[in-house]
Amino acid sequence: MADMSDDLEIFCYGLKTDFLGQFFPGSAALLRLAEDIQEVSGGLCWCGKKATMNTRVDGKGRVLKQGAQVLIDNQEEIRYIGLCYQHWREGKSHG
Ligand SMILES: [Zn+2]
Repeated sequence: MADMSDDLEIFCYGLKTDFLGQFFPGSAALLRLAEDIQEVSGGLCWCGKKATMNTRVDGKGRVLKQGAQVLIDNQEEIRYIGLCYQHWREGKSHG
């Protein structure tokens, strides 16, 4: 795609990091090669700070820090919320 960018304007968007704060292989490549990066707001943490961490929580709201980067056809009740770094680190999904 980078080789095509001499002739085309290419726009990509998506999550920068997974629920562990690690780059996805695709996001790492895009960030390495991008000529311009613009942040789309990820909303706010429950405390009011900027939500910078894509957080995986289970059905009881517990912050999960283990598991596969991508879950497909997972039987458990899993959802994703945005937390600030402090509350992601502390594993606090609510006040
Ligand atoms: Zn917070």
